[in-house]
Amino acid sequence: MRIYNTLTARKEELVPIEEGKIKMYVCGPTVYNLIHIGNARPMIVFDTFRRYMEYKGYDVTYVSNFTDVDDKIINKAMEEGVDSSVISERYIEECKKDMAGMNVKPATYAPKATEEIDGMLEMIQTLIDKGFAYESNGTVYYRTRKFQGYGKLSKKNLDDMQSGHREIKVTGEEEKEDPADFVLWKPKKEGEPSWQSPWSDGRPGWHIECSVMSKKYLGNTIDIHAGGEDLIFPHHENEIAQSEAANGCIFSNYWMHNAFLNINGSKMSKSLGNFFTVRDIAAKYDLQVLRFFMLSAHYRSPLNFSDELMEAAKAGLERIINAKKKLDYAEQHAEGRSFFFDEGEDQDFGAEYLAKFEAAMDDDCNTADAIAAVFEYVRAINSTITDTSSTALAELAEKRLVTMCDILGIILDKEEETLDAEIEQLIAQRQEARKAKDFALADKIRDKITAMGIVLEDTREGVKWHRK
Ligand code: AMP
Ligand code: ZN
Repeated sequence: MRIYNTLTARKEELVPIEEGKIKMYVCGPTVYNLIHIGNARPMIVFDTFRRYMEYKGYDVTYVSNFTDVDDKIINKAMEEGVDSSVISERYIEECKKDMAGMNVKPATYAPKATEEIDGMLEMIQTLIDKGFAYESNGTVYYRTRKFQGYGKLSKKNLDDMQSGHREIKVTGEEEKEDPADFVLWKPKKEGEPSWQSPWSDGRPGWHIECSVMSKKYLGNTIDIHAGGEDLIFPHHENEIAQSEAANGCIFSNYWMHNAFLNINGSKMSKSLGNFFTVRDIAAKYDLQVLRFFMLSAHYRSPLNFSDELMEAAKAGLERIINAKKKLDYAEQHAEGRSFFFDEGEDQDFGAEYLAKFEAAMDDDCNTADAIAAVFEYVRAINSTITDTSSTALAELAEKRLVTMCDILGIILDKEEETLDAEIEQLIAQRQEARKAKDFALADKIRDKITAMGIVLEDTREGVKWHRK
């Protein structure tokens, strides 16, 4: 499997530190609002990559944090007049609901920054002891120039950056030795959440959080660190500086970054106000459609959000779901269990498409090409499998389709499941109407159920139903 490594700026063979195991860290959201679909892009693409690695037999430890201490959270808490933990807890729960809706697997560990402060104090102290950090009036800064490799991920040069920094020197940071230095710990302001430290009552900087959580749950050197490309600089560059200086070894062997989800050509973001939340999309579409839409592009290509592309994703997904239904039908109606004599050449049906799918995924997680292979496969299913195919053939065809869709995180039976729930609900409503002797309503509901292609049978054990 090859992946593009931002650190080396080329595609490389994925060679894990420990055979068969992958340690992966993905920077998670800052929880002060409902997540928008730009935030959903890294969640979906890296979840898909995780699923593929698991399919290939790797034991993946997947860590993705929640940044639950931040200016934006504090501001929102002040606006609402509540503790900032009320805001972060609320939006962590909402985020988890969105992730479940998008079928993003829960991380092996999903640490919250505020629960990892001890580790941050420890790493900051180590950096001070090693001369990589210094304290000034309660603030601790990282001494950027002391770290030899600074800029290796973002390919930035400190001296070039310096000139820019001088012009935009931020007030309140006059105590910095160098404009390129960044904050590891800052003293609290009135009303802010804070923790005791040897330097001041205060809170950690954002970058140190990820260095510490990655170390705690995955160790000093990990296989893959990932996030959106806006995190390359300064966040990931600073994480490298902190972790490598503190731990004395390489931080992450591979760095993966997704491109932006754009809208009308610019990055979707909270600050620009040009965003849709995952919740907005859920009101209109099954979130699987959003997931499928995201995967229809390669993760390193910018993707423009539009109604047309969402509709295309919906139609594409339906084609796949219909192929699955067709296979279910064929299985139920087939007479012969084993392959028929004239199915000889189909005994490995689907293998060539699965191979294509894998080749695409092996090539830097190219989900766009992988989905193209799924569509080719669907075409082959539609032209090969008929009502007179054997169960064995239909089952094999289905197994391979489900395998591909599982990797993409697409559930093919979902529609059926939700439909079933809807039917059960209508039946219950009809029973209620009958109990209340509102037969007109009961008949109306029955007609609605019939129109959905459902046959009702009133039996002694209650109402039974089946599809026509
Ligand atoms: P934030 O909550 O802003 O720290 O973002 C959480 C994650 O979402 C990070 O990995 C960001 O890089 C990513 N992200 C934010 N906006 C977008 C976008 N428009 N397209 C793709 N990724 C994004
Ligand atoms: Zn991070």
